[in-house]
Amino acid sequence: MSRKIPHRLYLTEEQMPKQWYNLRADMKEKPDPMLNPATLQPVRAEDLYPVFCEKLAQQEMDNETRFIDIPEEIQDFYKMYRPSPLIRAFNLEKALDTPARIYYKFEGNNTSGSHKLNSAIAQAYYAKEQGLTSLTTETGAGQWGTALAEACSYYNLPLTVYMVKCSYEQKPFRKIVMETFGANVVPSPSNMTNVGRAILANDPDTGGSLGCAISEAIEKAVTTEGCRYVLGSVLNQVLLHQSIIGLESKQALELLDEYPDIVIGCAGGGSNLGGLIAPFMQDKLLGRLSPKIVAVEPASCPSFTRGVYAYDFCDTGKVTPLARMYTLGSGFMPSPSHAGGLRYHGMSPILSKLYHDGYMEAVSVEQTKVFEAAVLFAKQETILPAPESAHAIRTAIDEALRCKESGEAKTILFGLTGTGYFDMTAYNSFNTKSMVDYIPSDEDLQRSFTNLPKV
Ligand SMILES: *Cc1c(COP(=O)(O)O)cnc(C)c1O
Repeated sequence: MSRKIPHRLYLTEEQMPKQWYNLRADMKEKPDPMLNPATLQPVRAEDLYPVFCEKLAQQEMDNETRFIDIPEEIQDFYKMYRPSPLIRAFNLEKALDTPARIYYKFEGNNTSGSHKLNSAIAQAYYAKEQGLTSLTTETGAGQWGTALAEACSYYNLPLTVYMVKCSYEQKPFRKIVMETFGANVVPSPSNMTNVGRAILANDPDTGGSLGCAISEAIEKAVTTEGCRYVLGSVLNQVLLHQSIIGLESKQALELLDEYPDIVIGCAGGGSNLGGLIAPFMQDKLLGRLSPKIVAVEPASCPSFTRGVYAYDFCDTGKVTPLARMYTLGSGFMPSPSHAGGLRYHGMSPILSKLYHDGYMEAVSVEQTKVFEAAVLFAKQETILPAPESAHAIRTAIDEALRCKESGEAKTILFGLTGTGYFDMTAYNSFNTKSMVDYIPSDEDLQRSFTNLPKV
């Protein structure tokens, strides 16, 4: 093994991407349009203006523009914590005794501890540009809320964050970080919205879900003057902003004369994965190269591997437009696993379409197996991964072990989306062997599917 190969490769500021890449432009078959649930007609950008900032609504609908300029202010903000490093996992390779070359793109180098800041700063920028006076959002594990709190404090925009109640209780320190950046943090379901009160009346002890927190945040946005709602995943605009991850990765790999045989990312709503794979998926769509692309999801919330491809609401309260996606049903309450950022019933419509058309694969993994991988990785590579990110690590390790059996020296790239410093409850439960795996039964899922909207 030649040590002339760098451990960490950073692009220079000049090499950083100046445009985001819009994967939809190269999809011959586009994702199905969002529908208005009342009329079942496709939603137009203008229909979204009461909820979303206008520029973002336009990005949401734009299936044609291949490259979109990153405004200079956002480029400058990115430079405070980007480019993120592309790291060769030499020690992990050695520990696994694999001929595979394993690279990971590390997005945890900012206070939010995740890739989410890439889209948060863009969304806060466009809101400010439009003259909006406040924003609302939801957060699961707390990374998105933290990222958006950072971005909103940078632009002096008041922010209310509805935080999924079980995370709020598991991760009190996340709340304090958000409050330090000036955000107002409310556990969801709360009794401050109609939809929250309705959910509580039905199930007073619920730990909440992302879908439920989304309903509350939207209700607050549409009932408050000058306020809009922003979302940290699932949406097309978010995948667009996250394409910076993949663009940087591809460029750095090119400098090393490498191209991945396998690209792996964890998938909650699909934003880091959609961003990481974007330029590699372009190669695949244009028939240039054909890397294997794998989404990794928790066995407790298996949208791709056990969900259905159908029109569904994006939230529990059924106030959003309908999106065609892999879904477990908007009423599905995943068990309170430790990867809060992956507890979402649906999946990005872009990735859902690509998966449906056979351009990518998906696997689901159990959390005890995920934490085994997390601890092995931490010991070898000195980064304590977020439980969400560790899903990708698990599958990267499994692929590397397969290479060991077959003797193939494949190049593996995975997304290390963030750090797990706020996940001590999770690590403690793994260390003390009290962690259990929750897997929904077929009956649970069938019951949820019967409530899908009839389209
Ligand atoms: C939010 C989050 C995820 C999952 O969200 P995606 O939109 O699927 O990327 C993964 N990892 C970390 C660290 C997160 O914060």
